[in-house]
Amino acid sequence: MNPIVSCRPCPEYDADKIIPLLEEIYSQTQGPLLEGKTVLLKPNILFDEAPNKAVTTHPVFIEAVIRFLQSQKVSKIFVGDAPAMHTASFVPRKSGIWDVCQKTGAEWVFFGKKSVTCSLPSGKVPVTSIVHEVDYFFSLPKLKTHELMGFTGAIKNSFGLIPHLHKARQHAFRRSAAVMASFFIDLNEAILPDYIFMDGIVAMEGPGPGNGHPYPLNLILGSTNPLALDIIATKIIGYHPLEIETNHEGLKRKKWLTSMEEVVVQGIHIEQHIKSDFKIIRKVSLWKMSFGIVMRRIPFLRRLERRPVFAENRCIGCKACVEICPVGALFIHPKNRKKVVISNKKCIHCFCCHEVCPNSAIEIK
Ligand code: SF4
Ligand code: SF4
Repeated sequence: MNPIVSCRPCPEYDADKIIPLLEEIYSQTQGPLLEGKTVLLKPNILFDEAPNKAVTTHPVFIEAVIRFLQSQKVSKIFVGDAPAMHTASFVPRKSGIWDVCQKTGAEWVFFGKKSVTCSLPSGKVPVTSIVHEVDYFFSLPKLKTHELMGFTGAIKNSFGLIPHLHKARQHAFRRSAAVMASFFIDLNEAILPDYIFMDGIVAMEGPGPGNGHPYPLNLILGSTNPLALDIIATKIIGYHPLEIETNHEGLKRKKWLTSMEEVVVQGIHIEQHIKSDFKIIRKVSLWKMSFGIVMRRIPFLRRLERRPVFAENRCIGCKACVEICPVGALFIHPKNRKKVVISNKKCIHCFCCHEVCPNSAIEIK
């Protein structure tokens, strides 16, 4: 059977209005039977931020999914993540996700508390143990742009199963978007989400995933197939889906899809929802890539590569960027604690520092 991606227009975060849409989407895409099952929900919590910033999956969206699952008589619901810069005592208060857990009776789990080793073709990685202890793993990505990967959706959301700083370390061994994409597909092949509900009611455009701008896309998407879902989501925000490395790599492997044409979209006419004004991350054209390869070989020209630039006037000296940098390319200036110094020689352009900066003090230029 062809993979189905079901979409519904939804103009606002109102759980009572979202629940019937989730019911329709779930039945149209033939999600698994839920009665008596335990379910882990994995929203995108890049870092704990207010819901209106569109950094995290919206708490009302999560509440609606929880209430939908409860109406299907699941036995227990867990909600979890392990953002890179937070420790074991972390609970997502600012984003409102902790309150939703309290209100609905879902149990919050910090993924860093207990992990197991997952063997992938490209090496072993730690993943949260709870994903193997529940009956179903539901992924709840936020639709956002991403400076390194172009887009973060269903495939990329599973990266969060790897506890906090272990995520950033993966970049040290995989120094390009293409190699990271292959790793993300490996991870999804090892631990495939049983279902995905994507929060595209307010998406993030521009310099995502942490410092972009909210964009009212007014859509909810659902599928059992993460690749099919990402292909449709990227098409809607104005990419050619093959511009995104994870889509490209996923299609190349022919495991979940053999061609984009196989995907069946239900619930909307996709052509009516494709955005021409959504600020995507500029595609790196072939000549730019060739130029980049040449640049890397000529030290003087390396200065022209896309790289993080630090705005001293916005830096609050929190050191999050220094701590997350997987190759130790950053340090705080010895005489000014609000000035970050970068070693361009060491930088591998993973943009993890940009992702975690809480005060938009890092731009990619
Ligand atoms: S400085 Fe930033 S972009 Fe460069 S390697 Fe470190 S975290 Fe990645
Ligand atoms: S640049 Fe951002 S992340 Fe780095 S120390 Fe300053 S405020 Fe913190």
